[in-house]
This record gives sequence, C-alpha cells and structure tokens, in this order.
Amino acid sequence: MTLASALAPVIDLVFPPRCPLCGEALSAQDGLCGACWNQLAIPGAPACGKCGRPFADGVADGATCAPCLASPPRHDGIAAATLYNAASRKLVLAFKHGNRIALSGLMARLIDARLGMVGAEWLVVPVPLHRSRLWRRGFNQAAVLAAEIAKRRGARLVVDGLVRRKATPSLGGLGRKARARALTGAIGVRDRRKGILAGANVVLVDDVLTSGATSDACVAALKRAGAASVVVACFARVLDEALAMT
Ligand SMILES: [Zn+2]
Ligand SMILES: [Zn+2]
Repeated sequence: MTLASALAPVIDLVFPPRCPLCGEALSAQDGLCGACWNQLAIPGAPACGKCGRPFADGVADGATCAPCLASPPRHDGIAAATLYNAASRKLVLAFKHGNRIALSGLMARLIDARLGMVGAEWLVVPVPLHRSRLWRRGFNQAAVLAAEIAKRRGARLVVDGLVRRKATPSLGGLGRKARARALTGAIGVRDRRKGILAGANVVLVDDVLTSGATSDACVAALKRAGAASVVVACFARVLDEALAMT
C-alpha cells in the first residue's frame, strides 16, 4: 500500500471529495462530477493531420488545416486533452491560482490519454517559467503536469531542459509577428541538458496552449539542440480563429 492510499480515508474525512468545478459531492477525490465531465470539450476527428485542430464534419480526417498550410509547424503534433472553454478554464485557474495542485493528477491523466505514441524512451520537458514568475506563483504548473505525465509513461522527466532567459510581457493582444519578436532569445536549452536532448523524442508540456508562440519558441530551441521530434502536450488548447490568423 502506498502512503497516499494509506492516507486516503483520512484525507477524505477531512476534505470530503467534491467536484472541483461545481462543488457536488463525489465518491472519490480525484475526478469531476458527471455533469462537469460532459462540459469538457474533448477534441475528436476529423482533425488536422499536423496539429490536431478539429475540422467541421465532412472534411477528410488528416487533411492539413489553414494555419498549418500558411506556416508549416515546427512541432510534430499537438496532443490536447481538452479544447479551452468555460469548464477547462475553471479547472486551469483552480490549479494555477487556487492552490489546487492536486488537480494535476486529473489533468495529467486526461493529457496522458492523448499521448498514444509516446513511449518510455521519450523525454518529458515542461515549458519554462521565468524565475520572477516562479517566485510569485511558487511553482511551475507545466512542470507539475510534466512530472505526472513522466510518471504515468515511465518516461524521463527533464524538468530543467529549457530555460526562460528573459521575462516576456503578456502575449495577449499581440499579433503573430509581435509575439514572435517578444520571444526572440527568451527561451533556450540549458547547456548541461544539450547532451541528452540531442537525438531525443520530446514531449513538451504546458497547461494551456494559447497562440502557440511560446511553444513554438520552445520547439525551435529543442530542435536547434538536435531533438529528433517534439510533440506538444497541453491540458487546454485555445482555438481562436481570429487569434490564429493574426
Ligand atoms: Zn461538477
Ligand atoms: Zn493544423
């Protein structure tokens, strides 16, 4: 019996399990109620063969979406647990700002379900936070998810594979070019990790994938260091056509 399972009845007694989204009583700690499960949007088929962006019914599965045609992605696929909506947003905010780190188990389980191609020989690398933000928040939410995913996959976690060398302003509201400019030189591979990243297959983990500018900068850095392939894994993917086309 693990320590966690030995303690579970005690924890349940102190904190009766509740749905983290609506507060409904649950029979187990680590989940959502049925109604809230149904509000999560799980991306399905048909979808873009390069990035997994869902298509309207009738488009051939595996075709290439307009954003991928306009600028071929550097990554080798996006594995998103959910599409960003009110329900996934609430989960992410509770996880990130509400001290509900325990939600990482649930979120990592949903990401893990999309990572069929990832084996134990892969490396799991989180999107880095600048240290000023790390101090403010106390933890890197991407690193917490990456650790859970590595554990589930039996893969190696390289928590410090990437480093954010300069604090970047919020990228919201910036166009595609301005976002890329703001990130120039911001993210790199840590020198002491270059050896294991060369030739490796990498899962890059973040909680929310917004414009893709940050993950793009991470993928570029990993590939410059010689990574053979990089799959982007996230809990919630924002599909905002207006944002994607700017
Ligand atoms: Zn609920
Ligand atoms: Zn695409």
